[in-house]
Amino acid sequence: MANLESPGVRALREAGYKITTPRLTILDILEHCGGHITAAELLAQVEARDPSIGRASVFRTLDLLIKLGILWTSAEGGSTIHYMLMPNGHHHHIICTSCRRHIEFDDCQLSALIADLEAQYGVKIEGHLLELYGVCADCRQGAP
Ligand SMILES: [Zn+2]
Ligand SMILES: [Zn+2]
Ligand SMILES: [Zn+2]
Repeated sequence: MANLESPGVRALREAGYKITTPRLTILDILEHCGGHITAAELLAQVEARDPSIGRASVFRTLDLLIKLGILWTSAEGGSTIHYMLMPNGHHHHIICTSCRRHIEFDDCQLSALIADLEAQYGVKIEGHLLELYGVCADCRQGAP
């Protein structure tokens, strides 16, 4: 079941929002989806877990999480929007340009660059999405 101490739940609580069943259910699904989920996939999983949570409530919760900076969206060159949970302010992945597979990774080592940019431009950087493109090991093996 949903973890009350997960980073997403903590961020919601710190911003002064109540931890309701729809919010907890949605955060739990987002935290266990492996990095990305589409709206259709999310709606199907919410429905399977708790049919009493309506679509409007799901989209209200997604909007709130986006507003709080916990959730980001990416269209990834296509028309389908993916939701990405990033309670710690970063999200990093490599996308295979051949099979479109995502490889998520944790350590971006960007802190020095971020500190430089903050000093140079006088901004406070609050998050980043690092998206790299390449050809994955499986696709390289199949290549001539
Ligand atoms: Zn990702
Ligand atoms: Zn591939
Ligand atoms: Zn990072």
